[in-house]
Amino acid sequence: MNNDHVKVWNACVQVIKDNLPLQAFKTWFEPILPVRLENVALTIQVPSHFFYEWLEENYIDLLRKVIRKELGPEGRLEYSIVMENNATKSTPYTVKLPALNKKSLKNQPVNMPLNIAENQIRNPFIIPGLKKVNVESNLNPAYAFENFVEGDCNRLARASGYAVANKPGGTAFNPLLIYGGVGLGKTHLAHSIGIAIKNQFPNKTVLYVGSEKFAHQFIDSIKNNTTADFIHFYQMIDVLIMDDVQFFAGKEKTQDVFFHIFNHLHQNGKQIILTSDKPPVEMQGMEQRLLSRFKWGLSADLTTPDLETRIAILEKKMYGNGIELPKEVVEYLAYSINTNVREMEGALTSLLAQASMNKKNISLDLARQMVDKFVKNTAREVSIEYIQKVVSDYFELPIEMLKSKTRKREVVQARQISMYFSKRMTKSSLANIGAHCGGKDHATVLHACRTVTNLSETDKQFRGYLEDLEKKLTLQ
Ligand code: ADP
Ligand code: MG
Repeated sequence: MNNDHVKVWNACVQVIKDNLPLQAFKTWFEPILPVRLENVALTIQVPSHFFYEWLEENYIDLLRKVIRKELGPEGRLEYSIVMENNATKSTPYTVKLPALNKKSLKNQPVNMPLNIAENQIRNPFIIPGLKKVNVESNLNPAYAFENFVEGDCNRLARASGYAVANKPGGTAFNPLLIYGGVGLGKTHLAHSIGIAIKNQFPNKTVLYVGSEKFAHQFIDSIKNNTTADFIHFYQMIDVLIMDDVQFFAGKEKTQDVFFHIFNHLHQNGKQIILTSDKPPVEMQGMEQRLLSRFKWGLSADLTTPDLETRIAILEKKMYGNGIELPKEVVEYLAYSINTNVREMEGALTSLLAQASMNKKNISLDLARQMVDKFVKNTAREVSIEYIQKVVSDYFELPIEMLKSKTRKREVVQARQISMYFSKRMTKSSLANIGAHCGGKDHATVLHACRTVTNLSETDKQFRGYLEDLEKKLTLQ
């Protein structure tokens, strides 16, 4: 046998080395072994299928140039991928793909060698002694399902999370993608699922990781020449929870590596849970093939909790921390902070801190001052619900009456006043205000606003009501 293949490859390597950063060269080219040369086809051995795809996607131009330089315009490259059988000897598995030809490569199923029997790719970079049980899950026990309050805002997401937790990898919800705005409970719910799986299936390797952390680990692995270890580590996880995948936007290399890990896990029946601040259709800067994977399973959204759910969440947090607060304070917090749960919790914490520092009782007044300070810079808007609450308390009517269609005189007036303040103090449309106030249309709201204005000009007592209410609503 001659060793032309070695000579040819060494010549290629010289050129490649001059054209790449040292780390990249070490990571992706040093592990390659030349295997044989047949006519103008050079076969090289690579450690894994991933490795091969990575080369084809990132170094295709360079490889094409050097191969043609050495072997002429017809020069071809073939890959041999190391596979590990249960037998001790490893047999290289040759992928005879039309390499150096991206178009036809794209048509190849990505999973080709992975699906061969139960074979596992032997990875020469495997960390010796790295056992599954050593993986720290990074789960926060405070974020268990028991502490996640159910409401209309999260019903689907929570229910699918439960289903996944009972049968990881065994439902159609793979991946499960939870999306929604900031502070609405994505991270909490993702942890809940992980915790429930760990409780039921202690032997499963569950891993929670933020996308940003994942991206940094990946970059570090390139720097340290340990990318294969990095990939291998993620490929052995049973339940991978990737938080805030929107962070991958515009990061092509990270998306690539995650794409391959995703495929590997999915093909092996492992569960993937993703969270994102927007649904897949709205994600910008994300490769199409990755987006299409995101849509494979179920996407469930989290929306802003309604008032009752917000109160329930606050009560749960207080109970969990052994805190008691007057009901009016809790309601006040829930009424006035309707952006997201995190902000509401922040207000609760500040309130507790204020009270204990100044040795004051937590009164409605203190809550008002605090919310004023706390929420000012976040452009607070009084909600229709809050207005209804203040108005109904003032007239000592049940709030439900204001929301109902009843035409009782005293209710009609209170309802008109609610509409009037809603128009003045919120950015809601007339139609929306009407919908909240007994399902009225925009013309009725407009009429109510005119009636209130007219009455305030002619009726002193009525004007007094408005002034009182205005004070309460603006928290002076
Ligand atoms: P996100 O990841 O969507 O930005 P988080 O999961 O970090 O939001 O939630 C913010 C805070 O709100 C957390 O402390 C979380 O416990 C709390 N939270 C959100 N939704 C709920 C809920 N339904 N029940 C209880 N707590 C909740
Ligand atoms: Mg989060």
